[in-house]
Amino acid sequence: RLEIRNLVRRFDGRPVVDDVSLKVMPGQVTCLLGPSGCGKSTTLRMIAGVEMQDEGEIYVDGKLICDTVFRVPPERRHIGLMFQDFALFPHLTVGDNVAFGLSGSKDQKRARVKELLDKVGLKRFIDSYPYLLSGGEQQRVALARALAPRPKIMLMDEPFSGLDNRLRDDIRDQTLEVLKQEDAAVLLVTHEPEEAMRMADEIALMRDGRIVQQGAPYNIYYAPRDKQAVAFFSDTN
Ligand code: ATP
Ligand code: MG
Repeated sequence: RLEIRNLVRRFDGRPVVDDVSLKVMPGQVTCLLGPSGCGKSTTLRMIAGVEMQDEGEIYVDGKLICDTVFRVPPERRHIGLMFQDFALFPHLTVGDNVAFGLSGSKDQKRARVKELLDKVGLKRFIDSYPYLLSGGEQQRVALARALAPRPKIMLMDEPFSGLDNRLRDDIRDQTLEVLKQEDAAVLLVTHEPEEAMRMADEIALMRDGRIVQQGAPYNIYYAPRDKQAVAFFSDTN
């Protein structure tokens, strides 16, 4: 369970993330949805621990992992990351890519790698190198790699934007299924309403650093809070 409270981040005195609070439960996908520059990635980076907030706190399973004085380092946060540029290690096999963040015995690691590659439907590529795989397949390997260490939290920043349109819906569906099986609390960033509608249990609509509306996709779509929210949903961006 992820909880952030009153996060603020300023650059040159200007707040780009302005009093953002959110909760994400295990097995749930919350989409942070908003136009370019509204502060989505900055929010994720603070949760990941690669950027410090100016105000606010972050909790994982009720335990404080970061406020303005105390800070658990990124590698000890049990957070899985998947960004747009999900680059696999080209010199490692698919299996070794997925095993990368794992600890334990060789057999334990191998079993976990097989389990995940099986879930994403790519076990046959375990000993292949990434360059042999299509973009969509590489994306699923990246998902397997991010989930392998059983992160409690998954942060995904526009993870499908590099994929071609034809593939994207299928990969979204598959990704969602695997995320649900693994029971992570997922915070997914997107600027595409359609993606949020398809994947989210809850949507947090963000604008100019603030969350302006939050709720089930259906409610946000049919009862947008204001004109700007309507415009955003009808944009074909
Ligand atoms: P996009 O959809 O385009 O990825 P975003 O919602 O992820 O946008 P952010 O990357 O979080 O937006 O950026 C929010 C604002 O903060 C932008 O105006 C950006 O220029 C600014 N910003 C981000 N990082 C820094 C930084 N290190 N120094 C100064 N300004 C920054
Ligand atoms: Mg961004």
